[in-house]
Amino acid sequence: MSDEEELTYKERRSAVNKTYRTKILNSEKAEEFKKKNIEDCRKWREQNKERVEAYREKNREKVLAYNKEKVPCVCGAQVSRGCMSRHRESNKHRLYLLSESRKAEKEKNNN
Ligand SMILES: [Zn+2]
Repeated sequence: MSDEEELTYKERRSAVNKTYRTKILNSEKAEEFKKKNIEDCRKWREQNKERVEAYREKNREKVLAYNKEKVPCVCGAQVSRGCMSRHRESNKHRLYLLSESRKAEKEKNNN
């Protein structure tokens, strides 16, 4: 009996998924996949408007609480989930990204 046969179906699937995911995330097509995924989600919401609306109505408190929850951003700020996309466009966040990219460039030049 080989090692592979000792693994359960679930374990094998999860290993396959992991490799696949890493492969995609490291590929040049990552941006393309991401864009397509966002587009697909948007389409789904568009086609299932009633379902989305019903969920919102039914889970109003939950959705509000979720959007209010503060999460740390990579720039160090604490931002509520509902404001994250707005925050990503803010000067504070952009300055952080700029300084990070400059730092990376400097390190590249030093090596
Ligand atoms: Zn930020």
